[in-house]
Amino acid sequence: MKKLFFFTLFLFLFSTFSVFSQEKNPVIENIQKEAYENSQLEILGHELLDDIGPRLVGTPQMQQAHDWAVAKYKSWGISAENQQWGEWKGWERGITHIDMVYPRIQTLDGTQLAWNPGTSSKGVTAELIVLPEIKDSISFKKWLPNVKGKFVMIAMKQPTGRPDDNWKEFATPESFEKMKTEREEQTKAWDENIKRSGYDRRSIIPALEEAGAVGIVDSYWSKGFGVNKIFGARTKKIPSVDIELEDYTMLYRMVEHGDKPKIHVVAESKDLGRVPTFNTIAEIKGTEKPDEYVILSAHFDSWDGGTGATDNGTGTLVMMEAMRILKKVYPNPKRTILVGHWGSEEQGLNGSSSFVADHPEIVANIQAVFNQDNGTGRVTSINGAGFLQSYDYMSRWLRAVPDTIRKNIETTFPGWPARGGSDNASFVAAGAPAFSLSSLSWNYWNYTWHTNRDTYDKIVFDDVQSNVILTAILAYMASEDDSKTSREQVILPIDDKTGERQTWPTPRVPERKGGM
Ligand SMILES: [Zn+2]
Repeated sequence: MKKLFFFTLFLFLFSTFSVFSQEKNPVIENIQKEAYENSQLEILGHELLDDIGPRLVGTPQMQQAHDWAVAKYKSWGISAENQQWGEWKGWERGITHIDMVYPRIQTLDGTQLAWNPGTSSKGVTAELIVLPEIKDSISFKKWLPNVKGKFVMIAMKQPTGRPDDNWKEFATPESFEKMKTEREEQTKAWDENIKRSGYDRRSIIPALEEAGAVGIVDSYWSKGFGVNKIFGARTKKIPSVDIELEDYTMLYRMVEHGDKPKIHVVAESKDLGRVPTFNTIAEIKGTEKPDEYVILSAHFDSWDGGTGATDNGTGTLVMMEAMRILKKVYPNPKRTILVGHWGSEEQGLNGSSSFVADHPEIVANIQAVFNQDNGTGRVTSINGAGFLQSYDYMSRWLRAVPDTIRKNIETTFPGWPARGGSDNASFVAAGAPAFSLSSLSWNYWNYTWHTNRDTYDKIVFDDVQSNVILTAILAYMASEDDSKTSREQVILPIDDKTGERQTWPTPRVPERKGGM
């Protein structure tokens, strides 16, 4: 009994001490308390992803999202506005419905690709055709009239709909290897066949449209069960749809076997002319150094095959919730804490690079930028982005983060400057210390990134909550730091290919009139 008592007492003292040493700062303590006890993540996620939906640049939903974010910030007492940086082709997705109507009826799993012209509400019914074996550009030209009045299937028929890890688990090693070799050869042959037409995978589409095809049927498999990547269309007058691998390969086999399958496609979309594009910017003004900035950053736009839950709904939620908490527990920061919800990241970091170009006075006075944009997972790595002294300040800030969160994070200093990928690169290119809070994958690349399965159910709220706490504490520490962060850059290594020393990335020129 006695022994046990002492042991318990020891544990008690020890744990109080460690909690005390780590959480003695009331702001840091309150950040966690608010994040755990009054989380708004689920309701924010529901409103943004279920109610507003995907946020493709140029769509009314993107605008709705901007207006929703401004209203949310105002309801938390944070000043916010939408800042226009350009314009884009306006487009609204409508109903897509794709059915096989011959030789039997089956509703197919597919969707219209972004920005392309739709059909009437009655839709289009036509037979499918696949690309032939092409000898050369002359024979291809002779074949082209065959597409008139037909839907053309332009994706290779995948040999398997099972992801590789599934093969690895269940196939014999010989059969897994055989599948991979055959698939590689088939893919190479497919590319070479198209090349012999005188076109490539992209430029062949206008040629088919010109020749009188009634629509393009594509299938961009994402290498996971039932998952396709959904991007924009390349047609000007006819609809383009993506059909999931399962249904696509079935149709393809039917064409090959002479079954002459027909599909009925309804793809109602609206061309909305030209629309303005925005970034949503909100800020909590600094009291001591209002002209120095700590920036929370996450792009707001998405592709629209799913609802953009992990790209970048989760990054958006992290930054919004961190701002809400900071306003509540740290309402008078030393430096200004600004959040940027960027537009059109997906088409080339357009919103953030416009912000960098339009606000040199802010960019020159950035203490730090924290960007998150790779899914729902907890942050597991932070790279010093090539700033020589980042080790010093970033380590100092990270020490304030509770052990349970910090222990997962691997840091690399001084690291290297981001040259793209996400909005932190726009700031790094301008010489501002900008860091990516890089998260654990949760099968991001094959299952959610730019896919039709990027939806609310994939969010792992515990991990998102952990990222909120991390971000809020980093913002607090960066704001309170006694000194301004150093921007001293590493000397970059020699490029193996050119034999010359690599140079720091330069700011990109944003696309300010997109899709027109
Ligand atoms: Zn993204």
